[in-house]
Amino acid sequence: MVRCSSTQMDPLIKFDNRFVRELPGDLNEGPSSRQVLGACYSRISPIQPSEPRLLTVASEVATLLGFDPEFMRSESFVRAFSGHTLLPGMEPFAMCYGGHQFGHWAGQLGDGRAINLGEVVNAQGERWMLQLKGAGPTPYSRHADGFAVLRSSVREFLCSEAMHHLGVPTTRALSLVTTGDLVVRDMFYDGRPRRERGAIVCRVAPTFVRFGNFEIFAARRDLENLRKLIEYVIRTDFPHLGEPTPDTIGAWFEEVCKRTAAMIVHWMRVGFVHGVMNTDNMSILGQTIDYGPYGWLEDYDPNWTPNTTDAEGRRYCYGQQPQIAYWNLGQLANAIYPILQNEELIARGLEAYVHDLQTQWNETMGAKLGFDHWRDDDAEIVDALFDVLRSAEIDMTWFYRLLAEYPIEGTADVSANAYAEDPMRHFEYAFYRWEEQAEAARGGFVVWLERYRQRILRDGLPDPVRREQMHGVNPKYVLRNYLAQQAIDAADQGDSSEIEKLLEVLRRPYDEQPEYHRYSEKRPEWARHRAGCSMLSCSS
Ligand code: AMP
Ligand code: MG
Repeated sequence: MVRCSSTQMDPLIKFDNRFVRELPGDLNEGPSSRQVLGACYSRISPIQPSEPRLLTVASEVATLLGFDPEFMRSESFVRAFSGHTLLPGMEPFAMCYGGHQFGHWAGQLGDGRAINLGEVVNAQGERWMLQLKGAGPTPYSRHADGFAVLRSSVREFLCSEAMHHLGVPTTRALSLVTTGDLVVRDMFYDGRPRRERGAIVCRVAPTFVRFGNFEIFAARRDLENLRKLIEYVIRTDFPHLGEPTPDTIGAWFEEVCKRTAAMIVHWMRVGFVHGVMNTDNMSILGQTIDYGPYGWLEDYDPNWTPNTTDAEGRRYCYGQQPQIAYWNLGQLANAIYPILQNEELIARGLEAYVHDLQTQWNETMGAKLGFDHWRDDDAEIVDALFDVLRSAEIDMTWFYRLLAEYPIEGTADVSANAYAEDPMRHFEYAFYRWEEQAEAARGGFVVWLERYRQRILRDGLPDPVRREQMHGVNPKYVLRNYLAQQAIDAADQGDSSEIEKLLEVLRRPYDEQPEYHRYSEKRPEWARHRAGCSMLSCSS
């Protein structure tokens, strides 16, 4: 196994590796799978890929890091972010964490195929951890290989950036490279593995600490390290809370709860389904992390999950996400309780989650529907809307965009409304099966539309103002599952231009961008049951 070495070439990036400096590390070396006790991380180097090739970079992430454009174009960039050659100052390591998977304690998990390279401090003093996903085995790889395939890497790269541009808290993606090596995967779990191209995404976040980092110490009754990690995270990532005391730890938990609520409301707003909300995939920063078998709601179905592994229980389906996040926060509460030992502070945090989720969801729905402000009785019209959306296969994204365009001003005079004859026609494009389903849905749909018209007339927002407000929160362009798949298919043939184009479109998801209209099209029929377009496995 070739492990990479460092060179003298220096693009003048300043690393300040606080995590490894201040927290206890594993005393053993090497990648052999093992239980790592009494440590937050293990030092480990990436594997040198045989033929690293840069597919694409997110230039705004490079800017965030303060990377020089010349460095971005250099061979040393490709070598550094494929795990081939470390930059001076990098100190690679994998984190130790545990987690509850599908509701059950799973013991030690850890960075099985993620290797943190180091922490960059940019000119603004912001701290960014750089992490390669798919750069080889670590002590946490268990029986897996530590690598990642192109399809899952394209999906992670694109979705991290798409979410950021949608205004959803998320880890970022700097770069996507192919390694030149092949990785064996049984994508359908049907006993027919095939060799796929290996790839590596460089992820970027202030920290990659998850709920599971705390859970592992609590499960092992290692209270000394549990305390160290809590205090470290508060000092490093929540410095505004002040020095860690019982009160600050309580305030920290409350802030984690509030940030998680905000993240979940955003997911629900844009129709994102994470797919694997295990506690090891919950960032302590309230950022979306670990883009695996995620998906985007197409027809509005709260029971939809993109994850084949979850098809039976649907634990992580769209509609369950608020409850699951709450459950996960409960696991974090259990984990930190031995240090905090204050039930009141725990309850305060969990209540803040419930409160924020409800109030922010109401505000969000009010904005999505173009209300001037949320009124107490608006919950009824929202509930009625969800019944309507469930009454046929209706594309969620398109529905809201069309609703924003639905003319209301002057509709008291019926002749002024172009759709007066059949108000539902305006929404035809949002229907996946207009011919088969429109009639059955018509009654409820039309009643709701009239109710909506009355509600809008009550607030008096003029159509153009309402339209602008709604278009600002209801994206036109989301990373539809079939779009990601098309970009993957092209990349698999060596053409990364679709990735670049999608990234370009997804940079302005709320804008009309008529030249890119085709990227807003609803899922075509061929994609209805195609792997990667409708359901995804965890195999990545
Ligand atoms: P995930 O469901 O992707 O969040 O992964 C759950 C756990 O499995 C984490 O500890 C991962 O690091 C680990 N894991 C997933 N895929 C691999 C892989 N190909 N090699 C090593 N570890 C992996
Ligand atoms: Mg994970």
